[in-house]
Amino acid sequence: MNTTERPDSSGTVQNASDLPGQVVNTLDTCLAEAERPVPLHKPVFEGNEWGYVKECIDTEWVSTVGDYVDRLENDLAEYTGAEHAVVTVNGTAALHVSLRLAGVTPEDEVLVPALSFVATANAVAYLGATPHFVDSEERTLGLDPEKLGAYLDDIAEVRDGTCVNTQTGRPMKALVPMHAYGHPVALDALQEVAERYHLTLVEDAAESLGSLYKGTHTGTIGRLGALSFNGNKTITTGGGGAILTNDDDLADEALHLVRVAKEDHEWEYSHDQTGYNYRMPNLNAALGCAQLEQMPSFLERKRALAVRYQDAFADVDGVSFFTEREDTRSNYWLNVLLLDENVADRRDAVLQATNEADLMTRPTWQLLSSLPMYEDCPRMDLSTAESLERRLINIPSTPTLVDGSG
Ligand SMILES: *Cc1c(COP(=O)(O)O)cnc(C)c1O
Repeated sequence: MNTTERPDSSGTVQNASDLPGQVVNTLDTCLAEAERPVPLHKPVFEGNEWGYVKECIDTEWVSTVGDYVDRLENDLAEYTGAEHAVVTVNGTAALHVSLRLAGVTPEDEVLVPALSFVATANAVAYLGATPHFVDSEERTLGLDPEKLGAYLDDIAEVRDGTCVNTQTGRPMKALVPMHAYGHPVALDALQEVAERYHLTLVEDAAESLGSLYKGTHTGTIGRLGALSFNGNKTITTGGGGAILTNDDDLADEALHLVRVAKEDHEWEYSHDQTGYNYRMPNLNAALGCAQLEQMPSFLERKRALAVRYQDAFADVDGVSFFTEREDTRSNYWLNVLLLDENVADRRDAVLQATNEADLMTRPTWQLLSSLPMYEDCPRMDLSTAESLERRLINIPSTPTLVDGSG
């Protein structure tokens, strides 16, 4: 272990062997004004939330039909630049419907990151299809396009316009990049791989509302994209999500599917396929409209917090603060610390020390490829995802932490 001592910028001596203590001190300094305990990410309601929700109750429009549902869809389309947004009960539902619209059937495999929240793989499994796990790159924390391209060159083949896994014989229909913690993946390169292998690109943009790739909003570059408005995300509707697409027909089909595939009719109950009761209620949409109005203020403060962390952790040996890549703009949804490989064994000690100090931190997700229901699914070499899993720690990220009110 590295026990060299060196002065930090404030002139005090930091001992690299006390990594947990140093992380606690650094967080304590960055979050000096914040109330204890400091949560990882809590919702912030500073706008028109009460007024809009009250209006739903006053007018009795609380369920899946109402002005706020339509308004949130319009506001989201305008905010993201997508042609269409279809709001849903949660982000998982948005992803499920997106993959169904991408043509995923029970015979298929879908390429997903091993390093993601479980919903990414679950949405594939809901369709009876098989997740096929792909490695991440340290540069973005998301899918590694070069490694994926080389892997597909080895194991995949395009037959009659469909990509087939030559090892399992199953068609591979879609590729699902996920913008981890708000950091956009290398979309250009991934899109190239997707085109070469006839894979439909479906973005899991659940964590990246407000994040841009080369100036374009994440979730609008793939054929379909899924957003989440869960309580811990950048904005919340309580529970909620949205499907983004630039394709008029896909948008119509998405809307139809999330409204139990009911045909428009004044009184008849006529359903032309097995749809889903996935429509976002007006109450939740009202909350969403109020939240979306505050995005600029949330993003500005999250960025200020990230800058503060970046400066402070520059002086701590053994750990680095993850910053946005060139050509991208991150929403800094959940801030990320990466331990150096040689101190990865200190991760749990860092988690323990910070949580004991009332500073909420969390490890990244257990790799989906190692969860019991997915442990037999196909996968490529996952060495980078495995390394990130050992070294990644999320630190407090609520936007109000910079103004002391959070
Ligand atoms: C939050 C999240 C989802 C799902 O969103 P819910 O609204 O919780 O269903 C999907 N994928 C990722 C990567 C997420 O972080």
